[in-house]
Formats: sequence, structure tokens, C-alpha cells
Amino acid sequence: MDILEIINKKRTGGILKEEEIRYVVDGYVQKKIPDYQMSSLLMAIVLKGMTEHEIITLTKYMLESGEQLDLSQFSHVVDKHSTGGVGDKTTMIIGPMVASVGCKVAKMSGKGLGHTGGTIDKLESIPDFRVNLSEEEFFKNIEKVGLSVVSQTTNLVPADKKIYALRDVTGTVESNALIASSIMSKKIASGSKNLVIDVKVGKGALIKTKKSARELAKLMIKIGKSYGIRVICLLTNMDIPLGNNIGNSLEVQEVIDILANHKTGALTDLCIELSSYMASLGLDISYKEAKNRIIENWNNGKAYKKFIEFVKAQGGNLENLPKSRYTYEIHSNISGYLNKIDALALGKLSMHLGAGREKIDDKLDYGAGIVLTKNIGEYVKKEETLMILHTNKKLENTDKLLEAFKIEPHKSQLPELIYEVIS
Ligand code: URA
Repeated sequence: MDILEIINKKRTGGILKEEEIRYVVDGYVQKKIPDYQMSSLLMAIVLKGMTEHEIITLTKYMLESGEQLDLSQFSHVVDKHSTGGVGDKTTMIIGPMVASVGCKVAKMSGKGLGHTGGTIDKLESIPDFRVNLSEEEFFKNIEKVGLSVVSQTTNLVPADKKIYALRDVTGTVESNALIASSIMSKKIASGSKNLVIDVKVGKGALIKTKKSARELAKLMIKIGKSYGIRVICLLTNMDIPLGNNIGNSLEVQEVIDILANHKTGALTDLCIELSSYMASLGLDISYKEAKNRIIENWNNGKAYKKFIEFVKAQGGNLENLPKSRYTYEIHSNISGYLNKIDALALGKLSMHLGAGREKIDDKLDYGAGIVLTKNIGEYVKKEETLMILHTNKKLENTDKLLEAFKIEPHKSQLPELIYEVIS
């Protein structure tokens, strides 16, 4: 087979045969196909798309590039995935909520890159928390606690690891065919037969329009079905950051605020919704029944207890969460209603403060980030604090940061949280 012929075929809108897709995936993993030819093919896929059959085939060969986790010894197993956003700490809230009602959550998560944070970095900001457990420890925690979150191992879908890293630096991330096969190959390999996916839509997300998010959701549901996995997708708003805190240990603190102190708001509402769909799948009960149980355990403190149990089981110590050396308050220069907060701008700002990586080997400042002190829809007086920046860096001239906030004389309609649920 000839890689040039395959590239040319896709470039002119052709449909790749199964053996051609297999040749490409295997060849790239085995370093027989160089990065420059692979990136050329990826760009052709971004521009010309793939048929459903091609996407299912691509997922299959990516999946088969590595090992698969066998969770068949557990019942009520359920998994979740988020396509990534700013301040997205939902796994740390949802995991304990869902485990507290009797589901088993065995989760492999990733590190953050660019303006979106990764669950693994957030957990690693907890002193002594271990994200690399042996398979035996991982299984023991799933059995005993009902929840374990570990770093994605290299044995699981190595093809995605390589292809995703290449996509990240070649402008080939934004393709439904490539996103669906990347997410679903990892999720199938992770072993759960029940899956809830939070498809983030908007400015701070990978997927910018509802139409594209809907297509992606339908694709992932179809791929899941062909592997006997029940998938529910929630299309959710990512024009605004999720919750008030952005940055690793600051997000862990917000998780505690929600689970222990019953902080309410859009983030809590979203977590309850996602948890309810997960519990409904995992326990095979109605969504309504699942939601009642989730809310009950959030209110009675069982979800918080589960969070503490989970952190302890992985060696973490919540007593001394890291803090950055400096804080800077950013004040409003006008009065009015806070109608918009630019999630992408704040995601990038948080990264520059030290909470995220610009390059893969950048070292994180775990205490760095942003605390938003005003919510969308609130009235803000001139000189009131809009956000507090936490960082180890000395900052000068922070005036430009006010551009992330839209403050107007009239209150606009509050943004929708969940656009659609597709199953
Ligand atoms: N998340 C993934 O795991 N893969 C993608 O391609 C996009 C988001």
C-alpha cells in the first residue's frame, strides 16, 4: 500500500477502504509513516470529512492499537467524558455523587493542554495524591470506594496519544471524525458499558456550534452502540466558565464548597444533571429516580464523604492545598449588569498565571488561577471586585483584563446551561 495514494485519495474526497485505514493507523504507531505524511492526511480528513463507516473503522483500529481494560467483574459501572472547557471540574464532583448512590466509576483522565485544564492536574494539586496506581490498586479502590481516577496509561490507545499530539500542533483538532474516533476509542478501551458525554459548545470549547455538536453526539452514540455501549450526550454551554474558580487547587476548593458547603449555581446544576443521567444508566433506573437519589446524597453529605474517602484512598491530603504567593484584585471601572464573561480569555489568562501549560513539559503553579467574585446576571458597582488573580508571578498593568467582562446598563437573559440531551 502507498501512503501517498491514500493522502491523494482523501484530498480529492475519496472514501478510504478498511485496509487503508488500518495501514495508516498501524504504520503511524510503528513509525513507518512519518509525522509530515500523517499530518497531511489528517488535514485532508479535516477538509473532506469521513463517512460513518470510515469513522467507525478508524475508531476500531485506534482501539486495537493498545490494551483494553476489562471491568466485567464489577456491576453498575458508568463512565463520563467531557470534551473540555474552562474551569471544568465536574469529574471531581460527579464521581463522588454517582459513587455515593452505588455506581462504580473507573476513570482514566488526562492532563490539560492550552486553555482547558485537565482533571489529573487538578487532582495532583492535592498534596500526596497519587494518579498513577497499579491495576491492582485501581481495581481495589473501585471495589471499595466505588470511585478511582487515574492518569491515562500509555498502553491504552497509543494511536490516539500519538495522533492527538500531532493534531494539537498541526491545526487538525477540529474535525468531528477525528474527535469522535479519539474520544470513543479511549472510552471503549476504558471498559465501561455506560457512558455520559458532556459535549461542550461555545467560545471556550473545541466545538463552536450546536449543529456541529449535535452531529458529533450522534456519531459517538452510533460508535458506542456498535460496541454495546449505551451513550447519552448532553450539549452544554461553554461560552462562560464553569463555576467561580479556574486553576488547579482553586478548583479543588470549589469542589469542597459544592460538596461540603452546598454551594449552588450553574456548576452545581450541571453536575446534578450529568450525575443523574450517569446513575440512571449505571443503576438502570429512571432519570427522575436517579436525580432524587443524587440530590438526596448531595444534601445529606454522603457525596462529600465519598469525595473524602476517594482522596484518602489515593493518598491525598486536603489540609494544605497549595496557594500562590501573590493575589491581585481586579475592579470594575463601571457600574452595571455583568452580562458576559469570556471563558476563552480567562482560560488563557489562568494558563499565563501558571495554572496551565503552554508547552507539554511546562511546570505548573498549582495554586495559580482566578476566582470570579461576581456571577453572570449580577449587578456590579464601580470599583467592586470582579475577580482575584492568584499567581507566583509579579503582574503589571492588569487594566486590559477587564475586556473579558461585559458590563451593561440592562440585564440580558441568563445563558442556557444545557442545550440538548441526545441518546
Ligand atoms: N478530546 C479527546 O479526547 N479527543 C479529541 O479529539 C478532542 C477532545
